[in-house]
Amino acid sequence: MKIFCPCDKGFSVKHDSVINLDKNPDILKKIEDGSFLTFKCPKCSRPVRTELQTRLEWPSKNQTLLFVPEAKRIACLDFCSTKNKKKAKDAFSVEKDETPVIGFGELVERIAVIKDDLDPHAIEVLKFIILDSGKEIKGKKIKIFYHAKKDEKFEFFVHGLKADELAIMNVPSALYDSILKDIKKKKKDEVFKAVFLGNYLSYQNIFTEGQV
Ligand SMILES: [Zn+2]
Repeated sequence: MKIFCPCDKGFSVKHDSVINLDKNPDILKKIEDGSFLTFKCPKCSRPVRTELQTRLEWPSKNQTLLFVPEAKRIACLDFCSTKNKKKAKDAFSVEKDETPVIGFGELVERIAVIKDDLDPHAIEVLKFIILDSGKEIKGKKIKIFYHAKKDEKFEFFVHGLKADELAIMNVPSALYDSILKDIKKKKKDEVFKAVFLGNYLSYQNIFTEGQV
């Protein structure tokens, strides 16, 4: 695989397209500290971060993620939404056992959610509920990411409330618990289904930027 540095130097990098996170805890650390898929340019020594599609297997958590480059977002969503998977397969494909995460932001977040032993489904529903009920959110391009669990609260990072400013939002974990309970009871809530687009799980499947 050849990548290019902003200094125009092209260089080859070694990359495994399938990684087992239980066997490679160093990769897990790199995802968390933001150095995953970062390579040093041999000419100018600059760290070059690049998005390379990777299947991340995490057997101890019973999860398999497909890291998808942001540039392939539309192709990935097209595949997830189409009924004719055979035809769509030439452009892009997601295996049945894979949950796509698109771009570094979503990857870092999903890894944190799984590592904290939380249910990604309940977290995405929770994010939708937070955004749907926020008064100051109307008409703004908001992105929300789970960050950490602290005592009885979850910390979310919210981008777009104020220009160039990251807001931190604390949400009581009791709200998460009640959503999780309802999901397990198979309560028929449209929102519970609507966060899924095929295998792709995200509040963005119902909450489109700037739409509310
Ligand atoms: Zn360079």
